[in-house]
Amino acid sequence: MKKHSRSRFQRLVRRTDISPLPEMPYFSQRAFTAFLLAGLLLSTLLATAQSPADRQKVESLLRQMTLDEKIGQMTQVTLGVVSTPEDGVLDPAALTKAIAGYKVGSILNVTNHALTVEQWRQVQTKIQDEAKKTRLKIPVIYGLDGIHGQTYTLNATLFPQNVGMAATRDPELAAAITKVAAKELRASGVRWNFAPVLDCGRQPLWSRFPETYGEDVYIGKTMGATVIKAYEEEGLKNPTAVASCMKHYLAYSDSRTGKDRTPIYLPEIEMREYYLPQFREAVKAGASTLMVNSSEINGTPVHASKYLLTDVLRKELGFQGVIVTDWEDIIRLHTRHHVAATPRAAVVMAVNAGIDMSMVPGDFSFFDLLKEAVQKGEVPISRIDDAVRRILLLKAKVGLFDNPYPEDAAAANFGRPEYQTLALQAAHEAMTLLKNDDALLPFKAGTKLLVAGPSARSISALNGCWSYTWQGKDERWYPAGSKTIVDALRDKFGADNVTTTAVTDFSSPANYDTMALKTAAAATNVDAIVLCLGENAYAESPGNIADLALPDDQKALARAAAATGKPVIFVLTEGRPRFITDIAPLAKGILLAYWSGRKTAEAISDVLAGDYNPDGRLPYSYPRSMGEMVLYDRKPTEDIREIFNADMTMDGYRPLFPFGWGLSYTQFSYSDLHLSSPTLTGAGKMTVSITVKNTGSRDGKHTVELYTREHYASITPSTRRLRAFKKIFLKAGESQTVNFTIDRNDLAFVNAQLQTVTEPGDFDVYIGDQQAAFTYRSPTP
Ligand code: BGC
Repeated sequence: MKKHSRSRFQRLVRRTDISPLPEMPYFSQRAFTAFLLAGLLLSTLLATAQSPADRQKVESLLRQMTLDEKIGQMTQVTLGVVSTPEDGVLDPAALTKAIAGYKVGSILNVTNHALTVEQWRQVQTKIQDEAKKTRLKIPVIYGLDGIHGQTYTLNATLFPQNVGMAATRDPELAAAITKVAAKELRASGVRWNFAPVLDCGRQPLWSRFPETYGEDVYIGKTMGATVIKAYEEEGLKNPTAVASCMKHYLAYSDSRTGKDRTPIYLPEIEMREYYLPQFREAVKAGASTLMVNSSEINGTPVHASKYLLTDVLRKELGFQGVIVTDWEDIIRLHTRHHVAATPRAAVVMAVNAGIDMSMVPGDFSFFDLLKEAVQKGEVPISRIDDAVRRILLLKAKVGLFDNPYPEDAAAANFGRPEYQTLALQAAHEAMTLLKNDDALLPFKAGTKLLVAGPSARSISALNGCWSYTWQGKDERWYPAGSKTIVDALRDKFGADNVTTTAVTDFSSPANYDTMALKTAAAATNVDAIVLCLGENAYAESPGNIADLALPDDQKALARAAAATGKPVIFVLTEGRPRFITDIAPLAKGILLAYWSGRKTAEAISDVLAGDYNPDGRLPYSYPRSMGEMVLYDRKPTEDIREIFNADMTMDGYRPLFPFGWGLSYTQFSYSDLHLSSPTLTGAGKMTVSITVKNTGSRDGKHTVELYTREHYASITPSTRRLRAFKKIFLKAGESQTVNFTIDRNDLAFVNAQLQTVTEPGDFDVYIGDQQAAFTYRSPTP
């Protein structure tokens, strides 16, 4: 029920200093300027690539538009504003008021839950019919949150959340699932997706952690740029594509308290090192739109930050597309952030900072306030024209001026059988085996299992946020045939071999009944207990928690399971890492399944049965406890524990499971790490090669990760940074040489002057247990 109730009824209340190139001192100013301009031009072209005819059309419209028509284009309302309270049923009078009266240019969201493809197509058709009746017939652009597949269309295919996709370390797979999401959105008549989330997951308490690609910048920017290309590269007029929306600019995920939409305190050097690169890459990849962080950084709400929206995003990153606010965020500059003394001041602040479109979304206040502000000269008309031009160009780019209606060609792309295969592949590759003592897993055929725990018979706890409803909790809307872990294990091991104490409702007290679990284990003569723990679905602020620890009732269940004397396997379906440190020793095996979408249960049972050899790798450091929240790319002093020098130990990074961890049913060994040269000079390239062998007895996929460390630098260097990865498949006994090419950009960091630089010095390369050294030299001046 995505904020429908509040939206409908609630009154709404310099520096361009970063160098995209390292080595500033050795790079002539002229060459640098030329490079910068070429880069800007390229990203402008990518972001606005469209025909001269489209441009002419937009300019001609702009010349004809009244102030009301322009401001209407900048106004986005939620579907609830134009619907009767029944689900998704448009209210003709309300629609006319919005489109003819307020000249609204964009609509978003769903009312209560997902609609059928047919219902969506009718909704879109009626909206465009209404737009056709207006003086200039400007079509409406509709936006939805297809976060891990098309959230809001019934029977759409849901895939792993981003954090699970990061565990796959498989950008090609990420591209493939993105294309399905795009097709299912477009089949629903929708051409704008509010994805991908590019926020870096460095604060595991944050309730939107599952939407991130985890803690690493390189994974985030690689996956993000790949996904954006997958959405857009075929050209947005193609009925298989949708405009992407990189979000939430900037550093939304770094909330100090971990609670959604709470303040971020972030030095700019850290912002540029860990949070900006994903957006820089996304702009280069051609993202058409961007959504702004609802929160504030160092006391300035991002929606009011001309520095971040105009100086950094527009001028430095060269972003040419549409900047849309997040939910209700302009008025909140007044009502929540208290930086604007009046609602109008809030509008003036945001639009002058660089906002193009306001996700108002519950009324038309933005329209009235912005009109007043323009008339009073508080917002220049040039700023309005700039915003409207970008919005109209977006509409042209997605083909709305050619044909605003749901395309027949798109409809055929909904729900194709091969999407299920892809969903299973994605869920398989996400599965991350954290522990497997005595090689208990995989279970042999015919093993008798007791399956217990709150997520054993839940579907929502396997899918998480943005699954047919905003919160993803309401199982009535999931596709028929969606399997629970119990279902999938019964399919695999035989119904007679799988008993359960679990019930469908995640929170039902029956799921936490330790006596029932013990009794069942004693009565059924089981070989092992599969305990399904973790988190039920949540999204945004309803996902705020007081404690990262797994709740006590789940831990009690784990203790009861262990007390039976049977071997216990934990299956964790969770959006963020909940502390399990005290119960982890009780489990022989731990499988982290994340929220992996439609095929989560099948993927779990395949791994437990050995029909799939797991290859997921942790995209974050699985934390041990509150006082041990160090991330893998730590600084040298974070490695050190010290009372006196003599007592110093180097175990400061002590997560329960480290970043990159993930077991397989086979083993891989590394040898012959070889660098093409012991020296890398200037803009040169270096090849790093390594031989990887599958030394076990099963075939398997494996991700090879390359890390570097610089020995000394002008600011403290990280002890490790991931610079490249490659996923390979090796049959049992097979070897392969894997090659990586790195250059100085892969070694760069943000220095104290906030420039991205590569400093000359000695480096180490690490791949698996292998290590090699090289020197980076500046080019001769
Ligand atoms: C979320 C956004 C989302 C928007 C529209 C907001 O509350 O923060 O990520 O795109 O709602 O549903």
